[in-house]
Amino acid sequence: MATQADIYQQVWDVVVVGGGMVGAAAALGLAKNGFSVLVLEQQAPNMDWNRQTPVGIRVSALTRASENILRNLNVWSFIVQNRHHPFRSMHVWDAFSSAEVTFNAAEIGEANLGYIIENDLIQSALWQGFAREPNLAVSLGSKIIDLQLPNADDAIAKLSLDNDKTLQARLVIAADGGRSQIRQLANIGLNRQDYDQCAVVGIVKTELPHQDTCWQRYTENGPFAYLSMGNNYSSIAWYLPIEKQQWALSLSDAEFAQALGKASDYRLGQVVEVGQRGAFPLIRQHSNHYVKHGLALIGDAAHTIHPQAGQGVNLGLLDAAALVDVLSAAKQANRDFSTLACLRKYERWRRGDNALVQRSMEWFAWFYQDNALKNGVRQGVLPIVNHFKPGKNWLMEQALNGREALPSLAQLYAI
Ligand SMILES: Cc1cc2nc3c(=O)[nH]c(=O)nc-3n(C[C@H](O)[C@H](O)[C@H](O)COP(=O)(O)OP(=O)(O)OC[C@H]3O[C@@H](n4cnc5c(N)ncnc54)[C@H](O)[C@@H]3O)c2cc1C
Repeated sequence: MATQADIYQQVWDVVVVGGGMVGAAAALGLAKNGFSVLVLEQQAPNMDWNRQTPVGIRVSALTRASENILRNLNVWSFIVQNRHHPFRSMHVWDAFSSAEVTFNAAEIGEANLGYIIENDLIQSALWQGFAREPNLAVSLGSKIIDLQLPNADDAIAKLSLDNDKTLQARLVIAADGGRSQIRQLANIGLNRQDYDQCAVVGIVKTELPHQDTCWQRYTENGPFAYLSMGNNYSSIAWYLPIEKQQWALSLSDAEFAQALGKASDYRLGQVVEVGQRGAFPLIRQHSNHYVKHGLALIGDAAHTIHPQAGQGVNLGLLDAAALVDVLSAAKQANRDFSTLACLRKYERWRRGDNALVQRSMEWFAWFYQDNALKNGVRQGVLPIVNHFKPGKNWLMEQALNGREALPSLAQLYAI
């Protein structure tokens, strides 16, 4: 592995800015395909994991495609050794009609519909994988002050840092999240819409067992979800108008527990234990371009979506896997993988799918609004949907396995 002094000497094939779940997956996938990779990250994740590590409040519902990516990157076993929670069903209902829809893994011959896993654990598992890759190095803590992309005079991208050093790479991958500094330095604009909502998250214990089921109820404020974890514990995602964020955070534990019970219509009885909580404002963003010569955006740096269907990191991991395929194919054919023509293949592959999923979140919000006509439509149509197995099975397959042609890493046991 390169020493900290060496990292400024060499021209890296790829510098990945941001070692979150998506950037780390891209870095590991590229290193496994023979690229020299440097990950530039502000803060190292906790690498010291065991089953007693306190449960984090940020969790993700991972699809089968994401599970395959993590398996194929050889990091799934680390997650399983620590904590992962399969969910076998998903139950959706609303406060304004009596229509309910249940999705069951058994109906499509699957053992589960995915896993609820802490974000920190996913990131840490990927970072454990870094240590096994001799051509992958990490640089921690340096701030970027400038980005120079390849131009007619110089085919190398340069990242100037606040320690007066410069990193050189054929390709920079921006995986630095929704507020991506790299996207801004590259002057890539955004299509952005504030949802005027926040998500209040935390881990709670309920009186009744969750039955390995994720429960989602649409209310006048937005959806409320229990995501099933160990024993009677669930992760909550309580969506509220943004002006209620401070109110939700300021409630006493007893008041908070009472409010959650009410939002879920006591489907799992009373909330009997609440832990730490946090809140995140929700914004839809889609960058106008994913690529430039010498630059690719992935994950939240390229798009953020409403988390009600738990798709954000799943889409990001598919971006990472698609980019690994496109770059590896170019490298194998001895073609320059940093050109706009090459990188556009990645953009064409992923942009439409990401846009479709973003839009479908708005469709859900619209469909579940409290409105006499829509309440009547749900009342009439959803019981039919609930009994129409081919339609429901198709929806489950799409959500679990992805919609577009799957990148190699997302296929079962690709490596
Ligand atoms: C409430 C909530 C619930 C969610 N639930 C789900 C779910 O169930 N399923 C799902 O798929 N998605 C979910 N999401 C979305 C998911 O959390 C995000 O899509 C995912 O975290 C994006 O990962 P990322 O690696 O692209 O970005 P981030 O997680 O934001 O990581 C970016 C990384 O870049 C680093 N960084 C930033 N700037 C710099 C810089 N200048 N230099 C170096 N490093 C930098 C940061 O330190 C960080 O490590 C949810 C989101 C919210 C808000």
